[in-house]
Amino acid sequence: MEAINSIEEIRNRLRSLKEQGKTVGFVPTMGALHEGHLSLIRIAKEMADAVVVSIYVNPEQFGPDEDYDQYPRQLESDLEICREEGVEAVFAPSDEIMYTDKKFIRIEVDELKDHMDGASRPGFYEGILLVVNKLFNIIEPDVAVFGQKDIQQYRILERMALEMNHGVDMVMAPIKRANDGLALSSRNAYLSEEERLQAPALFRSLRYVEKQIKDGVTTPKLLIDHQKSELQAKGFKIDYFNVFTLEEMAPVEKLTEGQTYIIAGAVYLGTTRLIDNLIIEF
Ligand code: AMP
Repeated sequence: MEAINSIEEIRNRLRSLKEQGKTVGFVPTMGALHEGHLSLIRIAKEMADAVVVSIYVNPEQFGPDEDYDQYPRQLESDLEICREEGVEAVFAPSDEIMYTDKKFIRIEVDELKDHMDGASRPGFYEGILLVVNKLFNIIEPDVAVFGQKDIQQYRILERMALEMNHGVDMVMAPIKRANDGLALSSRNAYLSEEERLQAPALFRSLRYVEKQIKDGVTTPKLLIDHQKSELQAKGFKIDYFNVFTLEEMAPVEKLTEGQTYIIAGAVYLGTTRLIDNLIIEF
């Protein structure tokens, strides 16, 4: 199995599969594959006859001061991993293939991107919507699997699939973590040895908030402020750290019974941005 970089070729390849009545599961990635990505591939395999993985570092979702140039690219070892996992095809297009010089069309997001990463990374979700919309049109999958680690991305794409009638079953896979709790991420490769030891503190703070809520705290502001100070004292720079509603992705002051919330944080350790979250049914 070699990487396919032409839209025509991937379409032909999938057309013959679909003609045999096979369903297609799709896992979009930016490569530098780790166990988190593999868990998505395995879920997709359980849900569909053939799995397609895309590997594309999408320039449209990086801000001018972000890590687009630095982002790890390791196509050969990613392909090897996909072969071992029995992936049917890897779509790894170039920028020229994905984007024409001038773009006239963008997809906007309302409300769901007002907080969390949407608030701190202007243009981020529009870039993701653009690329996933294109990838869905190229691959036409039956099912697509995304990680809970990027939960706001999942919610926004779930709405895109629904509102744009993509007809794709959207699946959210749980977060894969290292033994010490750190959520796996391609960006963890940026961490120094010392930072890597510090990094799981984010997860521990989220867990602490979760425990307090489970023990009966319904107005989490003080608790949140305290955890933020603790993280800051350990050298983290906080982007956001709060409890949000799962439905609207908006911060909450008072939790009400029967609702689902997410406790989510984004922090910088040195120049590395880490994100993580926990889902809590209250
Ligand atoms: P990325 O390559 O970072 O764009 O991620 C591709 C997909 O893998 C996205 O749906 C992510 O949410 C998902 N993903 C990344 N890290 C993890 C993880 N630790 N556990 C589960 N899914 C993940």
